[in-house]
Amino acid sequence: MPRETKLFDNLHHYLSNLPVIDCHEHTNLPDQRPRPVDLWALLRDSDLGDDLISAGMPAAVRPKLDWEHAASFLPKVRNTGFFQSLLIAFRRLFDFTAAEITEDNWPALSQNIQAANERSDWYEEVLRRRANIRRILRVQGAEKDPYAVDGRYFSPLIKFDDWVLATKAEEREKLAQSVGGAARSLDEYLDALTHAFEAARSGGAVGIKSLLAYRRTLLHARPTKEEIAPLFARTELTGEEARAFEDFMCHALAERAGEFGLPFQIHVGYGSWQRNIVADANPVLLNPLIENHRNTHFVLLHGGYPFIGEMATLAKNHPNAYLECGWLAYIAPAAYRRAMGEWLDSVPANKLLAFSADCVCIEQTFGALLFTRRLLAQALAEKIEQDGWTESLAQNVAGRLMAQNAVELYQLKAAPEKPSKTRAAAAR
Ligand SMILES: [Zn+2]
Repeated sequence: MPRETKLFDNLHHYLSNLPVIDCHEHTNLPDQRPRPVDLWALLRDSDLGDDLISAGMPAAVRPKLDWEHAASFLPKVRNTGFFQSLLIAFRRLFDFTAAEITEDNWPALSQNIQAANERSDWYEEVLRRRANIRRILRVQGAEKDPYAVDGRYFSPLIKFDDWVLATKAEEREKLAQSVGGAARSLDEYLDALTHAFEAARSGGAVGIKSLLAYRRTLLHARPTKEEIAPLFARTELTGEEARAFEDFMCHALAERAGEFGLPFQIHVGYGSWQRNIVADANPVLLNPLIENHRNTHFVLLHGGYPFIGEMATLAKNHPNAYLECGWLAYIAPAAYRRAMGEWLDSVPANKLLAFSADCVCIEQTFGALLFTRRLLAQALAEKIEQDGWTESLAQNVAGRLMAQNAVELYQLKAAPEKPSKTRAAAAR
């Protein structure tokens, strides 16, 4: 066996036995899954839907995706990471050995997916027994109480974007009232925001999440309180005034995130849903925000694709900037491998979080994890082969990237266990 392959195998085996912290998901809560979860429900809600549309499928078809609608487009997306990561999950979870989904094989696959999702222990089976995921940092969804999620699997990430985007008095009042406050003045509104952070902290949140890159540029000016306070009396704001209000509130969020010890996850780079937000989502635009709030830990999401080098500069310069690299592993697997090659020898090892899938279905999470292990093993093997790393350094870094860094950054209570031999079989 060539040395490279053996090295890769050793590292891949090591990685497959490591406990995992999944740093960013929108996982369907078990009792809030669509009924039934069959192949089409799964694909509809997966990132593959975006690739099918990119390949030419009308976007209006997505909500009613089935074999008839997908048949002519599936062969065109067989090459992508979104497809391949699902395929590998189907292989491991449902013994689906075909290289493509066809008219003949989809009904059985779909039945298997549906039957598995009717098992009461399916989350336990996939997330724990197969994936060895110890905790999922899950973004608040539509559930009534974001803090009431099943603590065996999930720790909440709370969204505060509404507080930034509420430029109308009645919207602000509603938000303030939700935490027992009022919003007749900027001071009252900021007090209410502080209460919302207190509630997040005491409710068990481990961080906050911003999706504002889908709505606006990531560049923030820093208007003063005196400039923003008079806007509260106004019923209509100009575009420029609304932007100044948003900028001010983003700083207010960042400041409180630091005060309350809640890392601030920010979407940067590539976006979903046929919206190319990349030009205004360059992570370097966040530099002033990061520099202004040195006590806040900023977590730049999804590997920041395509801004690989830019991400590295932020994490390398700023002690309070971290790179979460997960979704990238199946948006663009080769970019993940290349990015890891670059980040692993430019950014301190405590600043990288290797895994998340940023999706709703646990089957896709599992496929993304299998991809991540393979790509990370390839990147680490290259460090040993070409850059003089020892195997023990590679293993130490692997443990950090898959779990330890997240445990430290998010102050997660249960420390991950050491790799165990018994997990190895299940992981493969
Ligand atoms: Zn997300």
